[in-house]
Amino acid sequence: MHVPRIGIVGGGPGGLMTAYMLQKFANRPLVVTLFEASPRLGGKILTPQFDRLPIRYEAGAAEFYDYSQFDDDPLKELIMELGLPIRPMGGPSVVMNGQILENWDDIREQLGSSAYQSLVQFDRRAKDRMTPQEFYHSDNPEGTTELVEEKRFDALLTTVAEPTARGYIEKMIHSDLATEPAQTSIGYGLQNYLMNDPAYMHLYGIEGGNERLVQELAARIDAVIRLQSPVQSVERVGRRLRIASTHQGVPSEDEFDFVVIALPHNRLNTVAYRGEALEAALRSHHAHYDFPAHYLRITILFEQPFWRNSCTDSYWMLDKFGGCCLYDESSRDPNITHGVLGWLLAGQAAEEMSDSSDEELLAQALDSLPSFLESGRHSMLEGRVHRWIGAVNAIPGGLQVQNLDRRHQPEPLDHPNLFVVGDYLFDSTLNGVLDSAQYVASWLAARLTSYSESDT
Ligand SMILES: Cc1cc2nc3c(=O)[nH]c(=O)nc-3n(C[C@H](O)[C@H](O)[C@H](O)COP(=O)(O)OP(=O)(O)OC[C@H]3O[C@@H](n4cnc5c(N)ncnc54)[C@H](O)[C@@H]3O)c2cc1C
Repeated sequence: MHVPRIGIVGGGPGGLMTAYMLQKFANRPLVVTLFEASPRLGGKILTPQFDRLPIRYEAGAAEFYDYSQFDDDPLKELIMELGLPIRPMGGPSVVMNGQILENWDDIREQLGSSAYQSLVQFDRRAKDRMTPQEFYHSDNPEGTTELVEEKRFDALLTTVAEPTARGYIEKMIHSDLATEPAQTSIGYGLQNYLMNDPAYMHLYGIEGGNERLVQELAARIDAVIRLQSPVQSVERVGRRLRIASTHQGVPSEDEFDFVVIALPHNRLNTVAYRGEALEAALRSHHAHYDFPAHYLRITILFEQPFWRNSCTDSYWMLDKFGGCCLYDESSRDPNITHGVLGWLLAGQAAEEMSDSSDEELLAQALDSLPSFLESGRHSMLEGRVHRWIGAVNAIPGGLQVQNLDRRHQPEPLDHPNLFVVGDYLFDSTLNGVLDSAQYVASWLAARLTSYSESDT
């Protein structure tokens, strides 16, 4: 009997989840080959350690979004299935003008009653526009016939007439949203505002580092994993698809019955799609999702967590760099006595500052500490910078949401055996990339049930 050969391009969460789910859903033996350009698996889930001390920090994906209070939460279920312990994260505080604002009373006291009134009104309107249930069901599996509103999120923000209140919202959402309000849709902007409310979702991290998700998936996958093997091209050859890749400069070609391209939108173009129909379909697919957004992470190891007297949350928002999230990375592990702070810069600030040297960026991060924490800067031991320019999506789903089949199969007529998986097709998160991987894996498994070599 012919054993179907599956090629997966990309060894990030999307590629790994696809391989894992496919293995679970398929009721026949398969030969899976996974191509990864870099020397490691995991893509934007990255939990490195400092050089001076073996202390971990998150350099990519920060937290997981918990929707289990509503209904199925496939990501949390997967993490439980893999036996990974989780730790809740939380942090309602925003530091503005050097003051910590923890609740509505602080906002009224520090920002004044007019800003407070304006914020309360905006909050009400936002919640009115999207309830927690609507947020949970915002996938639009059938697609939408109408275009996403022409107006962008900044148009909604201009309805907040009070400038301090508007500034507060912009800064508060700025690193959930890796772009500027003028470059994202009203719906996605609102989601990023509402996700700060525990009625909409909770947050958690994996104890021992988020990268444990990658390690556990990789350990369970029965696949040929080809590291340092960037895929150069995909093309149809007869009924099969041929992948051309290189390994340390040596080219190779392999043929597959099915191929899954599990690349983020900004890496889709690193592959040449050969043949007129496939090339045109992937060009149009890329254009549909081409809304790059940016992150930059600056992480500093200190002798001690000198901020804990003022703030014990897992993170708080800072009104610097257009609004950035400041993570207490050391709160992820109760056993460490050192302190680690991670600045997550987003959007325009991240893009513009990414050209600066690491030394300059570390100095700017220290300068951004509010005055009540300034003295702690002298206990810095080591700093690290990670640049993620164009790596996430500002309008996931695009300006007109496609139905799930169309989202995942760019050229169904002549290439029904080529699928794509990505968070950019849903919501730019790990939940989204898992939804995508699950959709493709179950579709592919169904196709494989009755598949014989002559089918494609
Ligand atoms: C700073 C930052 C913070 C984030 N925070 C969160 C968060 O808090 N919560 C959340 O849910 N999500 C978060 N995300 C998003 C999350 O990281 C992504 O949803 C997820 O990584 C997408 O997985 P992916 O496999 O599609 O892409 P990636 O993680 O980008 O993996 C793609 C892989 O493909 C490889 N590749 C590229 N080109 C080729 C090629 N030609 N051939 C072979 N391999 C190739 C890459 O090397 C990479 O390993 C964050 C992202 C960033 C950058």
